[in-house]
Amino acid sequence: MDSIVADKIRGVLFGQAIGDALGVGTEFLSRSEVAFTFPNGLRNYSDFRIYSKITNQFEQFEDPRWSPGDWTDDTDQMLCILDSILARRTIDIHDIAARLHHWAVTDAFGIGATVSAIVRHPEFLENPHRVSEEYWESKGRISASNGGVMRTSPLGIWQYLEPEKIRYNAEIVCRITHADPRCMGSCVAVCLAISRLLQGEQNLDKLVDAIAKEVEKYHPEMATYLAKTQADSLAVLDLDEGLNARERVTYSYTLKTLAAGFWALRNANTFSEGIEAIVHEGGDADTNAAVAGSLLGARFGYRAIKPAWIEGLIYKQELERRAEKLIELCDRT
Ligand SMILES: [Mg+2]
Repeated sequence: MDSIVADKIRGVLFGQAIGDALGVGTEFLSRSEVAFTFPNGLRNYSDFRIYSKITNQFEQFEDPRWSPGDWTDDTDQMLCILDSILARRTIDIHDIAARLHHWAVTDAFGIGATVSAIVRHPEFLENPHRVSEEYWESKGRISASNGGVMRTSPLGIWQYLEPEKIRYNAEIVCRITHADPRCMGSCVAVCLAISRLLQGEQNLDKLVDAIAKEVEKYHPEMATYLAKTQADSLAVLDLDEGLNARERVTYSYTLKTLAAGFWALRNANTFSEGIEAIVHEGGDADTNAAVAGSLLGARFGYRAIKPAWIEGLIYKQELERRAEKLIELCDRT
């Protein structure tokens, strides 16, 4: 394999993990709370802190299951897909469902409400698509959270020269937990973008316009949100909507996360610039930055990522080992 493609594949996986690991520092904060908590910006894992309304002081974030430099559910679930590809050498939704289930009952750090409800359903392992479809119906077919798009990046790498296979794989893996067409459209958009960046596409306006056309069939709002990525400022996406008084909660909407990722892809001049812009908006920052990181990694490659962000990842070696295996597998198949 061309060394540039291999570097971009590493970039996708590390980009996702780093976006997730940095973004968790501003997750569920409004933009103004981010500015208050991090007056010099959140630029490294060592900057993490939270403001306690009990002691009125800044404190270190502590959780026995997590420390700065660790990623969260977004990347854990991405690894369920990646490990399944490495083990099965095909897309096997029952194997992926089993891995998601295992993660949910053994770790589950940061697990979202939709995934939690679905993977614990007694029939999930046998028929994940039916369980997720019934869950979506039971919620009035309006729930379209970002739990599918946040883990989809390996499906843009696997068989990256074959767009119809990518579309199919992205849909069926999304549907394991997220049946809404907007969720599937988000996964397809991210995977197609990653695959074209791996193939060397450099015209980002052309890329985003082409993908907007290819996913318009999923829902009319796909095009609306992708069009917002032309704006100079991320403010147009209102990524922290629901974290300020009297706002409806929409910060984990799949199309917000999709648009955040494509905004960074289209507007950032460097990997760091894109990640920091997303992280400083707050909202569902780890998920938004995980998706942005995978796209930016496919655009700029692993070698363009700040070494401190790679070195600071607690499970760096486990990611490196998997990246090498995936590159080898893509090369052979
Ligand atoms: Mg998370």
